[in-house]
Amino acid sequence: MLFDVDGTLIERGDPAHVEAIDRGIHAVFPAAVHVSILDLDLDGRLERQLVRGVLAAAGLDPAVPEDSLGTIFETAAEFYRAAWDGRSGDHDLLPGIRPLLDRVAADPRFAMGVLTGGIRPIVEIKFRRLGLADYFPIGAFGDEDVAERPDLLPLAVKRAEAHYGTPFPFNRVVIVGDTPHDVRCAQVGGATALAVATGRYSEDALRDAGADIVLPDLTDTDRVIDALLALTGE
Ligand SMILES: [Mg+2]
Repeated sequence: MLFDVDGTLIERGDPAHVEAIDRGIHAVFPAAVHVSILDLDLDGRLERQLVRGVLAAAGLDPAVPEDSLGTIFETAAEFYRAAWDGRSGDHDLLPGIRPLLDRVAADPRFAMGVLTGGIRPIVEIKFRRLGLADYFPIGAFGDEDVAERPDLLPLAVKRAEAHYGTPFPFNRVVIVGDTPHDVRCAQVGGATALAVATGRYSEDALRDAGADIVLPDLTDTDRVIDALLALTGE
C-alpha cells in the first residue's frame, strides 16, 4: 500500500513546511514574494505544481526550468531542517499511526511505500525525526519530474517492484490518503483508494470523490487491516 503523508500519517498544515516552500520560491523568484502557497488550494497537490501556481498568481511565467526548481527545493529543505532543530517527539504523528504501521510492517501480506505531494528531502526529514523512515523503503514524491499526482503511481509501483522483488499489479495497490486527489490518483491508475478523514475533507466528501472505503481516522487498527484485506483481495 502507498501512504500519503500530510493529513494521513502526519498532521496537515505544518507551518514550517509551508514557510520552507515559500522561502524556496521567494529566494529564486523575489518578484513572487507577496504570494504564498497558502493562497492556493494546497491539499493533495504536488509541490512542483504549487511552485508553478505561486508564480502564475504573481504574474510570472509558471514554466520553471529544472535547475530553478532544484534550487527552490534545496533552499526549502535547508530551511525546514533548521526549523526542525527546535522540535522533538511524536507530536506531529496522527493518532493510531504507529500501531498501524507496526502491524502492517509485521504482516508479510503487505508491502509499504509512500506516494506524496511533498518533496523528498522534507518528507525524509519528517520521517527520520518521527522514526518512520524504516517503514517506507520506497516512495514517489512531489519534486519528481511528472505533471501531476496520478503520474506518481507507476513510478512508486516500479520502485516497489525493484525493492521488494515482486510484481504489484495495480489492482492490488491501495492508496491511503486524505484528499480527493489521492482518490483520483488511485482511480486513474487502476488502484483502489482507502480514504481517511483526518485532513481537511469530510467522510462524505471523500465518498463523493469515489473512494472505495472511507474511515474517520486510522485509530482502529483491526478495522484498517480488514479494509486493506478487502481492497487487495487477500
Ligand atoms: Mg495529504
